[in-house]
Parts: sequence; C-alpha cells; structure tokens
Amino acid sequence: MVRVRFAPSPTGFLHIGGARTALFNWMYAKAQGGKFILRIEDTDCVRSKPEYLEEILESMKWLGLTWDEYYKQSDRFELYRQYADKLLSEDKAFKDGDAVILKVLPKIIKVYDLIRGEIVVDTKEIKDQVLMKSDGSPTYSFACVIDDALMEVSCVIRGEDHISNTPKQILIYEALGFKVPKFAHLPLILDPEGGRMSKRAGATAVTEYRTQGYLSQAIVNYLMLLGWSPGNNQEKVTMEAALKNFSIKKINKAGAAFSLEKLQWLNSQYIKEMDTSKLAEVLRPLVAEKYPGANIQGKDFDHMVQLFKGRMSTLLDFLDWTDFIFNDKVNFEEEVRSKHLSQDMSKEFNLLAERLSAISDFNVKAAEQAFREVVAQLGIEAGALVHPVRVALTGRAVGPGLFDTMVVLGRDKTSQRLKESFK
Ligand code: GLU
Repeated sequence: MVRVRFAPSPTGFLHIGGARTALFNWMYAKAQGGKFILRIEDTDCVRSKPEYLEEILESMKWLGLTWDEYYKQSDRFELYRQYADKLLSEDKAFKDGDAVILKVLPKIIKVYDLIRGEIVVDTKEIKDQVLMKSDGSPTYSFACVIDDALMEVSCVIRGEDHISNTPKQILIYEALGFKVPKFAHLPLILDPEGGRMSKRAGATAVTEYRTQGYLSQAIVNYLMLLGWSPGNNQEKVTMEAALKNFSIKKINKAGAAFSLEKLQWLNSQYIKEMDTSKLAEVLRPLVAEKYPGANIQGKDFDHMVQLFKGRMSTLLDFLDWTDFIFNDKVNFEEEVRSKHLSQDMSKEFNLLAERLSAISDFNVKAAEQAFREVVAQLGIEAGALVHPVRVALTGRAVGPGLFDTMVVLGRDKTSQRLKESFK
C-alpha cells in the first residue's frame, strides 16, 4: 500500500516549493490508490507559530490537497522520549549533558533514490547525531524517522535540500530496527537565472498568488510542470489526465526553472474557460471590496465578466478593465486622449448621445443601430467615430466591442460621458 506524507514545519508560510512537494506526494498517493498523510513538524516550539499552521492548512485546502490522515509532532513528544530511552538502554546512544546522541559507527551507507539513483556516503563524513535536545525535544531527523516508520510511510518524497539528511536518517532507522522506506528527492525550484527561487522571480508564498488573483487550478497545473511533464509538450493538463500519467521515475533530476509568464498564461487559460456565472461569483467580492456599493448583481455583471474573461491574466485584471464602469471618472491614458480626443467632436458626440438616450431597451443591437444612423446622417466613416467614442467612454484605445462596452456602462452614463467630453 502506498503511503506518503507531506511534513511541513509551521515556521513560515507554505512556499511554492513546499506546495510542489505536497502536490507530488498527493498525486502519487492518488495515482496509486494510496494514502496521503499531512504531518506537522512543530518540534521547534520557538519558531513554530499557530498562524503559520493555519496558513499552511488553508493553502493546502485552497489547492485541493486534501489529506487522509493528520498528525502533529508536538502531540507525540512522549513517544520520541521512549525511543531515545530504548536506544540508550541498548547502548546505541549516549548522553552528553542532557542531550541524547546516536553513536555513529564506521560504515558505508547506500541510498537508492528513485529520482537520482544510488547515493553512497561514508559515515566518516557524518558526526554523531543528536536525537534529543537538552530541552527534551526531539531533533528533526529523530522525530521524522520514528514517524515515517510508525506511520508506515512507503516512500519519502521531499525537496532535494533534504538529501544530506537521508544517510543520517538511515542510521537512525537501522539503530531502531525499522524498515527503511524508499526515497525520492525532488529537484530544486530555480529562478530564471538559475539561482534558487527567490522573491525576485515571483511571490514565494502560495497565499500571495491567491491574493494576486491566481486560480488554484492554474497554480496546481503549473506546480505539476516543475520537474515533471505530461509529455507531448503539453502544458495545460487536467488532474485526471495527469494522474493517469504520473510516475516518480519520470521526475527530472535537474532543477526546475520557475516562469511567472507561464503561470500567468496558464491562469489566463483557466479564467477564459471558466463558466461565466462561476467566474462572476469569484469576481463579485473583489469588485465589492474595491468599489463598495457598486451594483454587482444581475445580468449586467455577468455580461461584463463575459466581455473581459478572455482578456485577463489574473482575476485582478478584471478590476482594471472595469474601472471605467465602477469609477465615476474615466482614467485616461494621456497619449490615447491626445491622439483620439484632441479634435472637437462635440456635434457628433451630442447627436449620438441624444439617439442613445432615446432607446428604451438599451441592448447591443439597439446601440449599434443608433450609432449607424448617426454615422449615416453625418455622412462620416464609422471608424472616425468608433475610436474617439471608445476613448471617451473607457479612457482606453483597446477593449471589447464598442456596443457591448456601451451596454455594460449603461445608457445614461454612456450618454453623459459623450455629452461632457468636450466641455
Ligand atoms: N519539516 C521538514 C521541512 O519542513 C520536512 C522534511 C521532510 O519531508 O522530511 O522541510
């Protein structure tokens, strides 16, 4: 039976690297019909904080990484003490002051890593290992080995930064007479310059991506690609398809470069494909927060979502695109204003405003018809009016169709902006 675990220490937020480790464990468990354990390694009472724990659990839930079993090492101190006593009584460990230390005997340790192959270490390179600290708390490696053994973890999948701990932990397994699990160390996540992933390449905390308007499906999909590939150069992949294809042996051992552009692209794809009313549900609270009192109910809001969903990289882009609707004042891009609104078109704008005001059922078709009539009456090219009108209404030279834009802005605001453009 496959049993894997993710073992974060609540000494900081859940990072992108930690989330990738959690995801690969979770996927392996799901792909094999096994169990995924969440184990909180909070033996460091000073650095572990309840708010970090809460944030880690919240991030895991948001990503959909549900767990089958949950443990906290701070509930298990007595157990670690008992195993330390056992090693002391068997003369495999000794006391130094109050600390308990494992005797390390000369030998060669071989670790078979599923991703990196065989790793050979001479214990000459390993000093005696502290198991229990003088304050009575276990060290990371001691608690980790006891738990992995008792929780019957079949494969330890974790970041490559733990590779140097593995031979030391094997000594502890052997001293305790426990079966050694399989190991798989995941490649580091690198920034585009090849250095270790840092804030410069993009946010490191999962929650930050959430507040920046990323969808959890896009993050999960992106994390999958950091070290693993579904094949055929495919990037957007459903979890169902990924699970059919997932195997630890296919994980790359070279570092995985983080690309914010690729994540943004994936996010835009997921946003575009989302059901409009579902997306509207997600966007409503964001709009309500930025524009308290804004009218976000009803068909008009869904219409806005429909219009802009193909133009968003993150959910926050919606707030940018719709600022001309929810703000009373238009924020003009200066260059655009001088290009399209420097020539006085008050006559044309006023005529259009009048026609639009007269429409009782203000919809795309009716707005377009009014516009065409004005153009015909004035004997001008439609293009001569489209651009200035768009700029007057939205402040921008680009956007979705003009008549849709008018409808989401509303009849009265549209007419009013046109009338006031050249005052
Ligand atoms: N608590 C360790 C960490 O946060 C876990 C390492 C492991 O998976 O063994 O890095």
